[in-house]
This record gives sequence, C-alpha cells and structure tokens, in this order.
Amino acid sequence: MDRLLVVGAGPKAMAVAAKAHVLRELGLPAPRVTIVESHAVGGNWLPSGGWTDGRHRLGTSPEKDVGFPYHSSWARGHNRAINEAMMAFSWTAFLVERGGYAEWVDRGRPSPHHHVWAKYLQWVARKSGVEVVLGTVRTIAAAAKGWEVAVVDADGVASALGSDALMITGPGNSARALAEHPKMLSIAEFWNLIGRRELPSISRAAVIGGGETAGSAMDELVRHDALTVSVISPAATIYTRGESYFENSLYSDPGKWRALSVDERRDVVRRTDRGVFSVRVQENLLGDSRVHHLQGRVVRVGGLGEGIELTLRNERRPDQTHAFDLVVDATGGQPLWFLDLFDADAADLVELAIGGPIDKDRLEASIGHDLAVTGMEAKLFLPNLAGLAQGPGFPNLSCLGELSDRVLAEATMRSSAVRGGATQRAEYLR
Ligand SMILES: Cc1cc2nc3c(=O)[nH]c(=O)nc-3n(C[C@H](O)[C@H](O)[C@H](O)COP(=O)(O)OP(=O)(O)OC[C@H]3O[C@@H](n4cnc5c(N)ncnc54)[C@H](O)[C@@H]3O)c2cc1C
Repeated sequence: MDRLLVVGAGPKAMAVAAKAHVLRELGLPAPRVTIVESHAVGGNWLPSGGWTDGRHRLGTSPEKDVGFPYHSSWARGHNRAINEAMMAFSWTAFLVERGGYAEWVDRGRPSPHHHVWAKYLQWVARKSGVEVVLGTVRTIAAAAKGWEVAVVDADGVASALGSDALMITGPGNSARALAEHPKMLSIAEFWNLIGRRELPSISRAAVIGGGETAGSAMDELVRHDALTVSVISPAATIYTRGESYFENSLYSDPGKWRALSVDERRDVVRRTDRGVFSVRVQENLLGDSRVHHLQGRVVRVGGLGEGIELTLRNERRPDQTHAFDLVVDATGGQPLWFLDLFDADAADLVELAIGGPIDKDRLEASIGHDLAVTGMEAKLFLPNLAGLAQGPGFPNLSCLGELSDRVLAEATMRSSAVRGGATQRAEYLR
C-alpha cells in the first residue's frame, strides 16, 4: 500500500495521518495519506457539518485522542518509539501547546465542546502535514491498481484521485428525515435552526433515536421552553452508558473481543452502545420532569396543520398514536451510506469478496483484523463497520491509536516485504 485515500477528515483520518507521520519520522515505511473532506477538518464537530451546533460536549474523555491507547505492539523493536512519538499528537500536547493545560486540569478535566474537539483535529492535521483535499467524493470506481475517486470542490471543479487503498469514515448524511412533514426536522435542519436561534416555540417536542445524535438533541431541547420533551426508541428504556473499567476496557482493548461469541458481542454492544446516553447527558435529563421515554418504532407519520402525529409500534401492545408540535429525527447515520458512491464494478468487487449481495450483516462479518473487507485485492478499510468483528471501539473514539495500527501495520509489513523480502517482513511481527 503506497497511497491511502481517506474519505472524511474526522478523528479516524487524523489518527491514521498522525501514525503514518510518526512511522515515517522513525524511518519505517508508511503509505502516503490523502484525505478528501467536504467541509473542513473536524467538519462533523462544527455547526456546518449538520450533526451538532458545536456547543455540546464530547461524551467520552478527550484523552481518548488520536493516539489512545498508546499501545502499538506490532513493530518489533520500534513499539516504544512509536508510542512515545504519538504522544506529541495527544490531547494534552495540544493543550500544552495552546497554554491551556493547567486550566483544564484545575477545572477537573472537562470534556471539550465539539467545536474545540474540531480545533484539536485541525491541529493534528497541521502537525502531521497530511494532504487534505477540500472537496466532496462523488463516485468511487475500481481501477486497474486500486481505486479511482472523483471529487468535486466547492466551485464545482471536478478532479480524480487514484489510490491503492481506501478508507471510508463518518456517518453519512444528516439532512434526511424519516418523513417529509413540516413539523419533522432532520438532525441537520434542527442544528441549523438552533445555530440561527430560530427554533420555534414548542410545547410538545419529541426526538426519535437513542444514540449520541439523539442524546445531543435532547440535551439541547431541555434548554428550551417545551412543556414535554419525549425521546422515542424501540428499547424498553434509555440506558446510561456503563463507564466502569470492565465496560471501558472492552472498548479500549479489542484484544479480548475475538474470544467472545457473536451473541456475547451483540449483547455488549446492546448494553453499552445502542439506546444509551452518556452519563453527563443522562444526569442532565433525569432531573427534568418534562422528559419522558416512549417505547416503540415509528411506523406512521401523520397529522396536518399545527401538529404532527407519530404512530408507535411495540410487539405486545396495540399501536399508539402521539401528537407533538415538533419532532427531530435523530436516528443517526446510515452505515452503508458510501455504497451510493460506488460504481457497478466497485460494488461487484465488494460482492465477490463478501460472497453475496451487499448488506450490513455480510459486510460486518467480512471485516478482518486490518479493519478492511477480507478478500479484496485493493484494500477497502471500513472501521465504522468493524464493531462486531473486531471490537466495539473501532466505530467511535474509543481506540483510535489501535485503529491506526490495524490499518497501517499490514501496509508497513507488506511494503517491507516488497522492499526487503520476507525476512524483513517477519522482523515487524512479534
Ligand atoms: C452529536 C454526536 C456526538 C458524538 N459524540 C461522541 C463521543 O463523545 N464519543 C465517541 O466515541 N463518539 C461520539 N460520536 C460518534 C462519532 O460520530 C464517532 O465517534 C466519530 O466522530 C466518527 O469519526 P469519523 O472519523 O468516522 O467521522 P466524522 O468525524 O464524522 O468525520 C467524517 C467526515 O467526512 C466528511 N464527509 C462526509 N461525506 C463526504 C464525502 N462524500 N466526501 C468528502 N468528505 C465527506 C464530513 O464532512 C466529516 O468531516 C458522536 C456522534 C454525534 C453525531
């Protein structure tokens, strides 16, 4: 792998960019990393990205930064140097450089606002010197040696980038809502109104969804004057994210993950990641008597004029219809959003590798140790779909340092095998 193209300049891209920089500094082979980004580095943590107004706080600790858990163990003889060099890209190094470290410690190490997290990511981009191409990836095609990616910039100018490996990041589009209804907002519309301070006055608000996206929207809505704020999700309740050592360690150290059965893995994800709000968001909501949870899947959106009606379905109960003034669809991203960009040949290659028509289950099951789809000659890294097969921390911010190791180690070993033969390759392996 000589050239890795990453779609999206979020935390995953920055983790890989920083590690590739460190490997090169240490004289080890690393691919040239190019990132294509539609908005700005850290775009989805800024108001313009459509997932936040930037003023809400990170749910996880910022010490889970681009190098966390600083535990590279694949490059025999170099691991310590890699871990030490990565510390230069840490959240605390960022604060030290900006002169804010002592204040952050004295204030009790608060989680930063999303827009500050974006600033940290931008600092990593500058420090690593990674190439960032500003533009939107429109199509991804299979090429003779890897991939060809068509990019269109803000002025509509098109260009094509070639790479032998591709990594997809991010949750996709936030502008879609469950139904077209004047009282139903997509998450992008919601944050756009909040940013412009134009959210209409409401008495009955509802948020559909049970993840980070819904948590942030609820956290915002309780700051407004609504009489009731309901969160709608299929689970029996909204769980509080377990933050004990046992739960966290499964996210930080995916080494244990492979020893669990698929049922056990699904159980961990269900208890810790789905329908779960962070401790901080939950504390904020629990004390507010206007907040309620409604169980069910939304199966119908109706109502005209002033209100909107949602029909909720639960297995053991008849359908129930509830009326609201405003509903925010915060069901989150579409895990397979990037497939819309693939041309027919590229999609065929994926189908061939996963042994059937592309769906989420097949793709998830196909993700190998290097976080790429197993069996593809041109690497396609899909860390967002690696949760079930490789570890629940890969789709989020829980082990970005491990993520970059998985993506780059194989490449480093492969290129050393090309350059120096199998003996040199074996040296990198423990
Ligand atoms: C409100 C909210 C809060 C969250 N808080 C946490 C948290 O505290 N802890 C945690 O672990 N996880 C959190 N998450 C989950 C979070 O999305 C992931 O952990 C993490 O941001 C994903 O990083 P990423 O690098 O995959 O993508 P992102 O940070 O989402 O970056 C993707 C980038 O891709 C760009 N992009 C999209 N489409 C294209 C295209 N076609 N061409 C070019 N560029 C494109 C976007 O502009 C964006 O900058 C949160 C999610 C949300 C929505």
